[in-house]
Amino acid sequence: MPFACALMSFPTTRLRRLRRTEQLRCLVRETRLTPEALVHPLFVCPGEGVRKEVRSMPGVFNFSVDEAVKEAIEAHSLGVPAVVLFGLPETKDEVATGAWSDDGIVQQTARAIKREIPNLVVVGDVCLCEYMSHGHCGVVRSSGPQSLGAAVAHPPAATGEYEIVNDATLELLARTSVSLARAGVDIVAPSDMMDGRVAAIRKALDEAGLTNTPILSYAAKFASGFYGPFREAADSTPQFGDRRSYQMDPGNLREALREIELDIEEGADIIMVKPALPYLDVIAAARERFDVPLAAYQVSGEYAMIQAAARNGWIDRDRVMIESLLAIRRAGASIILTYHAKDAARLLA
Ligand SMILES: [Zn+2]
Repeated sequence: MPFACALMSFPTTRLRRLRRTEQLRCLVRETRLTPEALVHPLFVCPGEGVRKEVRSMPGVFNFSVDEAVKEAIEAHSLGVPAVVLFGLPETKDEVATGAWSDDGIVQQTARAIKREIPNLVVVGDVCLCEYMSHGHCGVVRSSGPQSLGAAVAHPPAATGEYEIVNDATLELLARTSVSLARAGVDIVAPSDMMDGRVAAIRKALDEAGLTNTPILSYAAKFASGFYGPFREAADSTPQFGDRRSYQMDPGNLREALREIELDIEEGADIIMVKPALPYLDVIAAARERFDVPLAAYQVSGEYAMIQAAARNGWIDRDRVMIESLLAIRRAGASIILTYHAKDAARLLA
């Protein structure tokens, strides 16, 4: 309709009219960021009074349980409604005992946090890499049948052929989830990328009477170079090989949607895309297609890049931080896991 178009165009239409003042801009803003959308990740380690900064993530620390509680209280007081817990156990082994034992480091932390601040939502990351001596997210074997016993009995030579055994891993993930929920974790969040883990975890939780514990699935988790600093923070670098046989190939959008669809079918209550900023198209496509709460993880590398550039005086940290979080919201994620949670909440207050 040429006539209508003519009416709508310049000089009648001037989009700058609504950009003139901050009040007008605020009135017509389409996407808003609030602290309620943010989840603060915490890395918990053994000891007492420990507050050790992660070298590649300035402002991010490894905390002992007592310090993690203080940090959680501070985040909560800033309006951040949730934390997600990662554990650095005292010892590691071939069956990730530290992940599922009832006195595991994350279990201890969850109990301590829920005791002090029952209203803070505690999300428990469910994975095995931090607790495995080899640093992979599942049980590793060189050859043989897919059972947990067989896999543990035949550990791979560090230099030889190996496989991350899917089905045996499910048993440990399910055990971990039940243990975390019993310790008071409000939401279990499997991040391992094994096939069938959401169904296995749902079944185990239900059998343990934990039918009210939701599952936040890291549904589309890509094999990303942006995880680099996290591995230092969580001491979870694979001792051999990489994670490309279970995490997703960065080129695949359609496969990401299949991953998400399967996790929803298996019972995921919330789905997640990780990393966030390099995968905004995946977030947008997931938002378009699925009617479940959608989370995104602004990962360690995304955080580290902003911090490093800001430290060099090359960017304005606060502006870029808020802009990046806003972009993730605009793409469609309603929940954002981010190392900027506290700083962003302060700015948004
Ligand atoms: Zn892992």
